[in-house]
Amino acid sequence: MTLATPHSLLKQTDLCVKCGLCLPHCPTYVKTRDEGNSPRGRIALIEGLAKGRLTPTPRLEEHLNTCLTCRACEKVCPSGVRYGAIIDAGRALIHSGREPSALTKLVTNKPLLRLASRALRVYQRSGAQALARASGLLRFGGADRLDSLLPPLSPPPMWREYYPPSGKQRGEVTLFTGCIAEVTDTVTLHAAIRLLTACGYGVHVPRAQVCCGALYQHDGFPEQARRLAGQNLAAFSALKVDAVISTVSGCGAQLAEYEQLLAENEQSRHFARSVQDISQFLAGIDWPENITFAPLHQRVAIHEPCTLRNVLGQQTHPYTLLRKIPGIEPVALPGNAQCCGAAGTYMITQPALADTLRNDKLAALDTSGADILVSSNIGCALHLAAGIRESGKPVEVLHPVALLARQLGNGPDSKGNTP
Ligand code: SF4
Ligand code: SF4
Repeated sequence: MTLATPHSLLKQTDLCVKCGLCLPHCPTYVKTRDEGNSPRGRIALIEGLAKGRLTPTPRLEEHLNTCLTCRACEKVCPSGVRYGAIIDAGRALIHSGREPSALTKLVTNKPLLRLASRALRVYQRSGAQALARASGLLRFGGADRLDSLLPPLSPPPMWREYYPPSGKQRGEVTLFTGCIAEVTDTVTLHAAIRLLTACGYGVHVPRAQVCCGALYQHDGFPEQARRLAGQNLAAFSALKVDAVISTVSGCGAQLAEYEQLLAENEQSRHFARSVQDISQFLAGIDWPENITFAPLHQRVAIHEPCTLRNVLGQQTHPYTLLRKIPGIEPVALPGNAQCCGAAGTYMITQPALADTLRNDKLAALDTSGADILVSSNIGCALHLAAGIRESGKPVEVLHPVALLARQLGNGPDSKGNTP
């Protein structure tokens, strides 16, 4: 979501009546008790920047940088202030004329990221990772933070352009594979294909698709975000399908707001309205009667990512889906309304606050008594899994559809093979 001009930005900041009703819902305000780290305070700072009353200082920038863009404030605001658009525009004001960070450039460039993941796989499998960890070398330059987030990597997949449905055809969808998800969570992407084809949907995986652009957008680089959005629109709009499926709620939230990011024309409107989170899509279709799931007698805590809850409003669907598994006990992770601290690159750039927020989730996980934690956003899953590994808890972290596909009794796998 962008505000193209200072005029449209000021129209939004003017909507804020400074009532403060959003403050108790803002994790950074709750943790720091600093008005500058609250939605109301940040809106006042951005208004000052847009009107030329303030100039960017390191302190002002830090107040904007500590915002998680979780949009919990936007969800509760009685005046309908579009806070997400305001913070993006505020960051664009301070970042104007600057270059995006090397991390954002790497993560948003799919070919480069695939190359980096191959190198990291060699690093993990050759024993170099264990050596680097034991030597303490990773502490220099903050590399230990990145290293701690890495799951065991598998080779980047070579997608087929089309996966045909099994049995009676019910429709066609396209799959958005993402950038980080494609190198760290291929299990979920394969699970999505497996479930969709088993339900009678042909799955297209457009080759020309690129990163959704969310990182650029929230870092204050709307032009770069717009460029990627344009490429995706061209890649996906050539196919006539029932839905564009995303397995990552952060990407899905960005794709669903392409209408505002690009010119509000028919093509971008149609695309944005076709986007569905995988859980939403699978929970909304009729399942073939011959599909069964193996029972699972475990308690599963459901983490509701901010993008699924505050932006897409689709947090109920993972519960509906998981209830298809006999014996399962799905429970909400206590405190789901508060961000986990992952927030894109926030878990790397703001480690102290990110870890404070994650600690709340780890305590909530203990309270839940769960054996498995599911999350619909790969960034949150990586951040939470790293904390769980460090704490030594025997809890598995995965995507809801990865768990569902694992219990699938008689459907074909993503390559079309039936067990
Ligand atoms: S953003 Fe909304 S809830 Fe928060 S202070 Fe402004 S008007 Fe009040
Ligand atoms: S987006 Fe989240 S962290 Fe940022 S001001 Fe709103 S509630 Fe606070």
